[in-house]
Amino acid sequence: MSIVLDQLLKRYEGHPVVNNMSLEVADGEFFVLLGPSGSGKSTLLRMIAGLVDTDGGRIVLHGREVTHLPPQARGIGLVFQNYALFRHMSVAENIEFPLRIRTVPAAERRRRRDELLELVGLAGLGSRFPTQLSGGQQQRVALARALAHRPEVLLLDEPFGALDARIRTELRRTVHSIQRELRITTIFVTHDQEEAFELADRMGVMNFGRLLEVGPPNELYLRPQTEFVATFLGTANLMVGEVTRDGVRLGPVHFPLSTRPAAVGEARRVQVLFRPEDVAVKTSAEALGWPLLGQALVEESGFNGSFERLRLRLPKLQGVRPISPPAPFGGDFVLVEAWRSQHQARRFPLRPGDAAWVGVRRVHALTHPGLSFLMVADGSPGARAALEMGAQVARLSHARVTVLGHGAAGGQTEGELQRVREWIGSGLAAVETVASPDPPAEAVAVEASRQHYDLVVQGMPARGRVELSERLLRAGDHNLLLVPGSGPVPTRALICVTVGEPAKEDVLFAGRLVRHLGAEATILTVLPDKGDAHAVRQAERFLAAGARTLSLLGVVATSSIRYGMVRHEILSEMRDKEHGLLVLGAPLLGRRGRVSLNGVIGSLLDDVNDRPVLIVRPHYEEWWH
Ligand code: ADP
Ligand code: MG
Repeated sequence: MSIVLDQLLKRYEGHPVVNNMSLEVADGEFFVLLGPSGSGKSTLLRMIAGLVDTDGGRIVLHGREVTHLPPQARGIGLVFQNYALFRHMSVAENIEFPLRIRTVPAAERRRRRDELLELVGLAGLGSRFPTQLSGGQQQRVALARALAHRPEVLLLDEPFGALDARIRTELRRTVHSIQRELRITTIFVTHDQEEAFELADRMGVMNFGRLLEVGPPNELYLRPQTEFVATFLGTANLMVGEVTRDGVRLGPVHFPLSTRPAAVGEARRVQVLFRPEDVAVKTSAEALGWPLLGQALVEESGFNGSFERLRLRLPKLQGVRPISPPAPFGGDFVLVEAWRSQHQARRFPLRPGDAAWVGVRRVHALTHPGLSFLMVADGSPGARAALEMGAQVARLSHARVTVLGHGAAGGQTEGELQRVREWIGSGLAAVETVASPDPPAEAVAVEASRQHYDLVVQGMPARGRVELSERLLRAGDHNLLLVPGSGPVPTRALICVTVGEPAKEDVLFAGRLVRHLGAEATILTVLPDKGDAHAVRQAERFLAAGARTLSLLGVVATSSIRYGMVRHEILSEMRDKEHGLLVLGAPLLGRRGRVSLNGVIGSLLDDVNDRPVLIVRPHYEEWWH
């Protein structure tokens, strides 16, 4: 192996930016790291180069550990996005610079420099200055300079990010052919999926400092294992369908699959992916020749150069829950993205409002089990109930479960955790146990930085509920379920929302969980009074849309408006209708998820002692753009 990264860790202000990353890159391999901006790509590359200290883990280059060596001792060539040439030096001097500091004799330097100018296609331009070159030419110089001292490893950080499309394509070809010629081990960082596909022998997809999946481009595109990779690598139609004996079912269609999706315990649900180019669109059902999803209406059509983009609206499919394109808030239909060649588009023109028959040529079932829960165990009665309810929800939703035993007081030895594991484990897909000496919030933070959790399940403490909840919510990007000391699994849930866009995420996550519980839901908003007719109508529309969305998720839902003081009305509704679960949306302050629960939510937390409370947080999609 040429590059071995072992459990690399980097934190800024306590937040892991590169999170236990391990990766091996083979000799002469062209490896592309792809991820949204802010996912930690540059930080990782700079760690390999020695420009950023590591907080943990090891870097081994060609069998030599370099984790704590200075940059110039690592045998690395580096190219950044911004040209970073020395302005006061000519092209020739720039390229010779790494040789000069390594005291290579002048004649040898000149020979090497001319060779490199030739290699990057700039022969004869050695006496120019950077300002006399185009952006593309400057990056060619940067590449030549990075290669001058014959490094064993070449690292490029979005090197063509600032260039226009045509020049980018040209430079990609150049880099590709030079890499082939020199067989130099390369890591190339980009946020551009096309660039990754074009260049990579193998690629890895990063998100939130984690390396999610690694593989050849076509493998990751056609057979991703995670929802993020499926949707990040191009347009995806991703839906939850059902596992069958020999394949998967998506509404009316059954697809036999040779690789049977991992049926998790009694799991019947599976995420099914099909790409827009695998959607067949025809005038009649008979003409289709592929498994038929149904008759759709064209919602949008667009020209996209070599192909046509269609967004199709299908009636709700039995047993199918859409993930991407997301379920339209308030709609009870399924959206499908389809691409057609221009040839097909001419033969059978379609405009918004037209009807068409839709089939699917092939599907892929994701093996990732979906939700993951972190259940906090500290030996208290509340914790035991939390474990029981958490396990029940996890069974129903086929979630992965980690049991976190924390604190010395609980005496959570490995042996005890093992017993907990056996006790709750039956019917669960996967149970991991982790023991930590830290207090709960700290222990959760460490664990949440190791892997993502959708939900933390915590026993309801007698005191300090608000503070504990805030700390637990701040410890990661999960939602929180507080469970009282005893009680049945809820059959009725009260979902409290404030009217407006941001609330829809609350409804979606809560809906997912409530559906797994098999509970009914009431979606409630409280207005000060009936005086403002406009506000009342707006609330009615919003709640009706929320209820439709819930029913699309498979939840029987009703809506309710109450008038008066928020806290008082929510408590009355809980009591009057005997709701077994209270769902509240956490307000998010700031981009780092700094949650503060003062105000109504905090006071409700102190008032509700005997029912579980789910606190869901809205997700900022733009966080990773
Ligand atoms: P990418 O290259 O994938 O866009 P980066 O590695 O540049 O991502 O950054 C990842 C995260 O680390 C970002 O959230 C960024 O704000 C943070 N970060 C990077 N460098 C620093 C730094 N020197 N100080 C504090 N935070 C940083
Ligand atoms: Mg970057």
